Amino acid sequence: MSIGIVLSTIEVRRSESFLRNADIALHHAKLNGKASYEIFNAEMHTRAVERLQLETDLRRAIEREEFEVCYQPIVHLETRRVSGFEALVRWNHPTQGQVSPAKFIPIAEETGLIVKLGSWVLRQACAQMWSWQQQFSCCHSMVISVNLSGRQFLQIDLLEQIERILSDTHLPPQSLKLEITESVFMLRGEVTQAKVKCIKELGIQISVDDFGTGYSSLSYLHRFPADTLKIDSSFIYQLAVNPENLAIVEAIVVLAHKLGMDVIAEGVETNEQLEQLRAIHCEQVQGYLFSPPLSADESTKLLQTRSSCGVGDQPWGFRSTNF
Ligand code: C2E
Ligand code: MG
Ligand code: MG
Repeated sequence: MSIGIVLSTIEVRRSESFLRNADIALHHAKLNGKASYEIFNAEMHTRAVERLQLETDLRRAIEREEFEVCYQPIVHLETRRVSGFEALVRWNHPTQGQVSPAKFIPIAEETGLIVKLGSWVLRQACAQMWSWQQQFSCCHSMVISVNLSGRQFLQIDLLEQIERILSDTHLPPQSLKLEITESVFMLRGEVTQAKVKCIKELGIQISVDDFGTGYSSLSYLHRFPADTLKIDSSFIYQLAVNPENLAIVEAIVVLAHKLGMDVIAEGVETNEQLEQLRAIHCEQVQGYLFSPPLSADESTKLLQTRSSCGVGDQPWGFRSTNF
């Protein structure tokens, strides 16, 4: 049982407000997991109002075209080439400026708005990759990675939606990779397993995103044949600080390779991290060291200036000196 508590010391006169505050506290208690309690405080109310406002704005944001898809290059260490991009949605809020996806994706997920938003992102990203493939020959072998949240993944008509988008945008299925977090893999085991199989039969690739932050269960990795494992940035930040982390990351890389998957390290920011990852045979990296997520126009410029798509001697404007 979860309990929300309001103390009578808080100045509230109306019974409705008392109940509303108890409900807000209860919501916080539920967020803590099962069998927990929370005592209401004024900050909880402020946050609840902010969240409600954000939810209202989010409902209008799609119609008002306030979203934008950015693209972050993923770099192959051995070939020194960009192997693809990850599509990351941005919300340019009219008064609050850019709102982080970490803030609005969970609200979109809770309210179901993610279905419409996610489908829009997928369409934009597929159309963008197809357009690059038409302009730059090096993009033919590139893959566009698109994040898929739990609610999106559980949609009954997900496969039809993806097929329609691929057909409308002309993007070959081999050029699309869907990023799914560990927790989604764990949801409804058999249904998920069947869906992953169908997605793969279409020729689309699958990545396990943020590996290491959730259950990190080895048994599901074996059951769900993913193509790529993305090691969460929290491990990468810790690489230099704590040598134990290097051992963990190395073990993850070995495991992934044994299961036939390739590995991408997320959040690579320093040359030291890059060297450590290279030494343990991690093949791909993504992070600010190379490039932050770029607007579609900036990404096109990057592809134009480096039309060979290689990193070469003259890094692609990447900050890494070890390349
Ligand atoms: P993610 O899929 O793990 O994406 C990687 C996040 O790490 C992105 O944050 C990216 O900007 C950030 N990042 C990349 N390199 C570095 C680095 O070197 N250092 C640091 N500190 N961060 C780095 P972002 O764009 O804020 O997105 C956060 C999360 O929101 C994503 O995590 C993903 O779970 C979700 N998200 C973003 N776009 C979408 C979307 O279109 N659909 C869905 N369902 N989720 C999305
Ligand atoms: Mg991702
Ligand atoms: Mg991730």
